[in-house]
Amino acid sequence: MLLSEVVEASAGVRATSSRKNKINILAELLKHAEPQELAQVVAWLSGELIQGRIGTGWRTLTALEVVSTGSPGLTVETVDNFFDQLAGVGGSGSAARRQELLADLFGAATGAEHDFLIRLLTGEMRQGALTAIVAEAVAAAYDVPIAAVRRAHMLSGRLPVTAVAARTGGAAALAAFRLELGRPVQPMLASPGATLEEAVAEFDGQVSVEHKMDGARIQVHRDGDSVWVFTRTLRDITASVPELVELVRKLDCTSVVLDGETLALEDSGRPRPFQETMSRFGATVAQELLLHPYFFDCLHLNGDDLLDVPLRDRRRALGEVAGGLAIPALIAPDPEAAAEYFDGALAAGHEGIMIKSLDAPYAAGRRGRAWQKIKPTHTLDLVVLGAEWGYGRRTGYLSNLHLGARDPDGGPPIMVGKTFKGLTDALLQWQTSEFPRHERDRDAGTMYLHPELVVEIALDGVQTSPRYPGGVALRFARVVRYRPDKEPHQADTIDTIRALLPGAK
Ligand code: AMP
Repeated sequence: MLLSEVVEASAGVRATSSRKNKINILAELLKHAEPQELAQVVAWLSGELIQGRIGTGWRTLTALEVVSTGSPGLTVETVDNFFDQLAGVGGSGSAARRQELLADLFGAATGAEHDFLIRLLTGEMRQGALTAIVAEAVAAAYDVPIAAVRRAHMLSGRLPVTAVAARTGGAAALAAFRLELGRPVQPMLASPGATLEEAVAEFDGQVSVEHKMDGARIQVHRDGDSVWVFTRTLRDITASVPELVELVRKLDCTSVVLDGETLALEDSGRPRPFQETMSRFGATVAQELLLHPYFFDCLHLNGDDLLDVPLRDRRRALGEVAGGLAIPALIAPDPEAAAEYFDGALAAGHEGIMIKSLDAPYAAGRRGRAWQKIKPTHTLDLVVLGAEWGYGRRTGYLSNLHLGARDPDGGPPIMVGKTFKGLTDALLQWQTSEFPRHERDRDAGTMYLHPELVVEIALDGVQTSPRYPGGVALRFARVVRYRPDKEPHQADTIDTIRALLPGAK
């Protein structure tokens, strides 16, 4: 198969907003993939590489000056070989060697292929929604039930492997996937819930209400004395978290799979900032900060797989085997008790709560209604300090906004984050024609503006940041709308933002 066929299908998917059309386009492509190239095609369509991340940054990729060929000739196999070589480069001189390889690859690519490869290599294409659509396309292409694909995907943790099984052995091959100790399953995900009351009512009160801890997801497997710890992306981090391994080894069982969150704590028991937990997942950081696990699910215990049993029973198993390490939960509370719990969670520095149906099985890899996250949403009015020129679909448009908070002492606004989320095509066009009127300065990638425009931004919270001048950065910021009715001196101040830091109140 030619790379250009994959690129064309990927462009087709981006060009349509209909989920059904997206699935059809991908299914058609998959039907034509040979078994030996199918894994690669499926990985790329989901924005991933079979080789995993291969350590090439956006800067290196875009700095390469290449003249693209006009005609498509690259095959899936050739490109995959390039990725193999890139992944194998190491030691001194590796940056130059990578550049050489990339220049060869890009030189043989058409403009559209070049664009696709950059988005693939930078991880820009990776997103959960895409994976779900590719899974549906696998089901459609090989005429197997979507539930069978999803189940095999969750158990294998890998969509490419699942696709190959579906293509070569159909539903029977998919059904043969089992939870295997030592092999991580795709974690179950949560959907944003509207309000606490609605989420509790949706399940007639038959819910587990839990703190939503702002740490990092872990999945722990134990088989006898062997223990493995995996991240949310199924990376094996066993070697960097010996204290977690030790705790799990002490549990009274022969085999277990637990799902949970881990975070570093202050001496007082308050959670430390998220970045500090994440820093422990690298191999090199000294283990000064001890990680504490908070398990919220049990997928296997002493030889029994529990994925298909209701949460009610999984929680019971969790309590039996790891009661002391389980996240506290309110089981089937009345609405007032649940509301009180929510307030308590926020006061304790957590980012919100999770509401989970007690009757639902573990639907791995899916963002379903059975788990709902409830967080307080904040909106802030911030000053636009500049905008970066977009790339890909946004080439030629001023896109990524630099956002500033007002200095209550009258100084210039203080930058607190960037976002291009929530920008519609109409807004991109408007920004591109309006911003030059406010231009103060510019460099290669950015137009800097006089602080004159106010934009309303929704965010999930804020975190401490050594990078931004105010020491604080927005989390998951997205544009709601422009506020032409507001002047910059009416924008929110840096103090308001600092007050949103966990535990600031
Ligand atoms: P989000 O990343 O916002 O979609 O929220 C889902 C994530 O919240 C999960 O992947 C976990 O890492 C984390 N989390 C924190 N506390 C819980 C909990 N009690 N139950 C499930 N997930 C939790």
